[in-house]
Amino acid sequence: MDLEIKFTDLLRDRNLKATPKRLELLTVIANYNSAIPYSELQKKLKHFDRVTLYRTLNALLDSGIIHKASVSTDDTYYAMCKEYCTTECHNHKHVHFKCVECLEVSCVDTTNTIQIQIPNVKIQQVDIEVSGVCEKCI
Ligand SMILES: [Zn+2]
Ligand SMILES: [Zn+2]
Ligand SMILES: [Zn+2]
Repeated sequence: MDLEIKFTDLLRDRNLKATPKRLELLTVIANYNSAIPYSELQKKLKHFDRVTLYRTLNALLDSGIIHKASVSTDDTYYAMCKEYCTTECHNHKHVHFKCVECLEVSCVDTTNTIQIQIPNVKIQQVDIEVSGVCEKCI
């Protein structure tokens, strides 16, 4: 229940109505132990039709509540935004780690800071995907 109150506030803060579908989708993403693959969302939310799932995901992506943790040909992974992201900008300071064995994707903080600068441009978003073998699969 606490989670539902938290998400209701979060949605209202971004001028989104706290609809039952949005709350349900957020709860599923938040309760998953790593970034959730789209195929898993479809399984857990069978009562959502394709269009509803797509629209609900996009509303949350556009408002800085969730982000795509990894996009591959096989699946797209979604995760909650930990940092304060807004409707204008996703401001992530973490990287995405994908295990080549179990295909799990997680949002992880690096032990060193990553500074990327490109001359003459204003960077709005940096996506870094790192792959390897996770501690469970080593
Ligand atoms: Zn974000
Ligand atoms: Zn693994
Ligand atoms: Zn992430």
